[in-house]
Amino acid sequence: MNFSTANLVFDPEIIRRFDVNGPRYTSYPTADRFVEAFNAEAARLWLSKRNIGGISRPLSLYFHIPFCSTICYYCACNKIITKDHGRSAKYLKYLAREVALQSSYLDGEHEAIQLHWGGGTPTFLSHDEMRQLMAVTRQHFNLVEGGEFSIEVDPRKVDDATVALLGELGFNRMSVGVQDFDERVQLAINRIQSEAETAAVIRAARQNGFKSISIDLIYGLPRQSVAGFEQSLERVLEMDPDRLSIYNYAHLPSLFKPQRRILEADMPSADTRLQILALAIKKLTDAGYVFIGMDHFAKPDDELAVAQSQGRLHRNFQGYSTHADCDMLSFGISSISKVGPTYSQNVKTLDEYYDRLDAQILPVFRGIELNADDILRRSIIQALMCHFELSIESIESAHLINFKTCFAAELEDLRSLQTAGLVKLDDEWITVLPPGRMLVRAISMIFDRYLRADQQRTRYSKVI
Ligand code: SF4
Repeated sequence: MNFSTANLVFDPEIIRRFDVNGPRYTSYPTADRFVEAFNAEAARLWLSKRNIGGISRPLSLYFHIPFCSTICYYCACNKIITKDHGRSAKYLKYLAREVALQSSYLDGEHEAIQLHWGGGTPTFLSHDEMRQLMAVTRQHFNLVEGGEFSIEVDPRKVDDATVALLGELGFNRMSVGVQDFDERVQLAINRIQSEAETAAVIRAARQNGFKSISIDLIYGLPRQSVAGFEQSLERVLEMDPDRLSIYNYAHLPSLFKPQRRILEADMPSADTRLQILALAIKKLTDAGYVFIGMDHFAKPDDELAVAQSQGRLHRNFQGYSTHADCDMLSFGISSISKVGPTYSQNVKTLDEYYDRLDAQILPVFRGIELNADDILRRSIIQALMCHFELSIESIESAHLINFKTCFAAELEDLRSLQTAGLVKLDDEWITVLPPGRMLVRAISMIFDRYLRADQQRTRYSKVI
C-alpha cells in the first residue's frame, strides 16, 4: 500500500530499505550511555545549583508507580506484578521521602507546570494512596493553575468513582492503554479488556473535565491481522480520542522475560506489520488526525498539534510534550530526571530504593553531565524528531560552530538518504521530506555520536 497525505508519504519499499535498529530518543544521550560515575552526590549538587544565573526553569514532575496486578506478555516496562496491595503502601511511604529529599536540595522556584503518573499501573493505588501522593506533592511543589497533569490509566482497573477522584485531585489529561480490541490478540498477550470498559472510562473522564484523552495502540502484536486491526481502529475512532499513539511492538524475548510466553508462530510477518502500520496511518489521517512525529497523532486543535505547527514541540521521557524548557524531577524506581545539562536515573529495584532512602541518600545509580557536543547534538536530534527540519544557521549561532565543518561526515552519510528522497539538504536547512517522516529515528541516528562510535545496534528494536 503506497499513499500520501498532506505531510506524510508511506512507501513500504523505502521503509524496508532504511529500517534499522535504533533508539527512540526520549533523551540524548540515551539512557544506556549514562555512567555510574554520575552518582547521587552529583545529582544532589545539580539540584542545589539549578538556579545559577537567576534563571529557574519551571518543573515537570514524574512519578513511577511500578505495580500491576496481571502481566501483559508484550511488556518491556520496569514493573512488579503483584496482587498484594500492601506493597504499594510501603512504596508510597518511600516515595514521600524521596519527594521531601529532592525538594530539600532543590534551588529556585518549586513551581510545577507538568505532572505525570506512569507505570506500571498508577491506578493500582487505592483512593487513599492517590490522595496521599497528591497531598505530599502539593506540600513540596506548587502545581500551577492550568498546568498539564496527566495519568496513565488501565481501564480494567478503573471505575467511575476513581475517574472522578482523579479529576478532583487535579488531573486533566489521561492516557488510556488499549493496544488492540481483537479478542484473539488480547488472549495471546494476556490482556483481556473490553470495549465497554474502555468507553466507560473515557466517558467518565470527559464528564470530569479531562481536557485531553489519548489512546495507546500497539502494532506488531501476536495474532494481529490487517482486518482485525482495522476493526480495532474503527472501534477506537468511535471513542473520539484527542490523541493516539501507535507503538511498534519490539519482540526481544532474550531481554524481556514475559515476551517468552508469546509464540513465535503467532507473530505477524514483516509485511503484515507494514500493512497494519500503513492502514493505521491512512485511517487516522483520513479521520482528520495530524501526524505529529514518529508514532503520535493528534486532532488539529489539540495542543500537541498546535505546538508542532508553532515550532514549540519538544521530546522527553513521556514522548512528545509542549513544554520545552522544564527541568524534570522524577520519583520512584528506575525513573529518570533531567536537571540543567544532566540526566540521572534511579535504582531499579525496591530493595535498593528503600535502602538508599533509609540512609537519606538520593536513590540515583547512574547519570550523565552533557558536554557541549552532547548539547549540540541533542538540539539537532530534537529539531529533527519534533519539527522534521533543522535550521543550520540557528544551530550555528546558538552553538557557535561551523555546521559543515563539524558535521562533514554526517552530511556525507545523509547523501544516500537524499538520493532516496528522504531528506533535502541545502546551505540553510536539513528538511525531512514526507517519505522520510516515518524514518526520522534512522535519520536522527546519523547525528548520534555514541552510535557512530559503536556500530553495535542489535540492542535496539527496529524503528518501524
Ligand atoms: S503493559 Fe502496562 S499494565 Fe501491562 S504489565 Fe506492562 S506496565 Fe503493567
